Amino acid sequence: MKITFLGTGTSQGIPIIGSTHPVCLSENEKDKRLRVSVLVEWDDYCYVIDCGPDFRQQMLNAKVSKIDGIVFTHEHADHTMGLDDIRPFFFRQGDIDLYAHKRVFKALKKRFDYIFTTKTKYPGVPNVVTHVVKNKPFKLGNLFVTPIDGLHHKLQVFGYRFSDFAYLTDMKTVPDAEIEKLQNLEVLVVNALREKPHISHFNLEEALAFIEKVNPKRAYLTHISHHLGFHDDVQQKLPKNVFLAYDNLQITI
Ligand SMILES: [Zn+2]
Repeated sequence: MKITFLGTGTSQGIPIIGSTHPVCLSENEKDKRLRVSVLVEWDDYCYVIDCGPDFRQQMLNAKVSKIDGIVFTHEHADHTMGLDDIRPFFFRQGDIDLYAHKRVFKALKKRFDYIFTTKTKYPGVPNVVTHVVKNKPFKLGNLFVTPIDGLHHKLQVFGYRFSDFAYLTDMKTVPDAEIEKLQNLEVLVVNALREKPHISHFNLEEALAFIEKVNPKRAYLTHISHHLGFHDDVQQKLPKNVFLAYDNLQITI
C-alpha cells in the first residue's frame, strides 16, 4: 500500500494569505502545507480521503489520472470544497463514487446542489454515486475499510483504517471502543494542530498521548498550523517513531 500526503495543513493552509509569521515566510518546502488529504493506493486501486479546496493542485502534484472514489471524514470546508474539480475524472471515467456519513451528504447536497440535483443538469456538471458510511466496515475495491468514530468538538468525524494503515484527522475525542479498532497498526496518521490546546483538535501533547495509547509501529502528524513551528525544529522534538508529515511525502506499508 502506498500513501501520499497530498496536504498536511490546517484549514487556512500554510502560508496563510497575508501572514508575516516566520513559518508562513519559510522557504523550506516542508513548511508549505495545502489543506489535509491523503491518497491511498493498493493493487490497482486509488482512493482519496477528503477533497478540500486544494484538490485540483493536489491531483496535479501527485499526477493522479484515475481515482476509484473519495472518502470523506466530515463536511467542513477544508475537507470538501474541491468537489467541483472531480470533473476531469468524471469526463474520463464516468460517475464518481463518494463515501461519507449521511449528514455529510446532506451538507454536500446544499453546497453542491447542481451536482446532486436529479433535474436536468447544466452540461459538464459531474455525476456522483453516494455510498452512506455507517460505523461498520465497508468495501473499497478488494479491501474492507473500518470507520473510526470520533468527535471534532461536538461534530461526529470518521477516521478510516485500511488494513495496517489508519488515518484520523480533526479528532479531539476518540472513545476507547474505537481505539480498540486500531490495534497492530503499521502506520497511524493523526492530527496535531499546535502546542496550545484547541477546542476541536488534538494539540501536540494530546496527539502524542493518543499515539502512545494506540501504539502503532510508526505515526505521522498532520492538519498542522503554522503555530506548531518549523518542520525541522518540531521533528527534532518528536519520539523516534513519530514523524511530522509534510506535503508530497510518500510512504509504503
Ligand atoms: Zn479540518
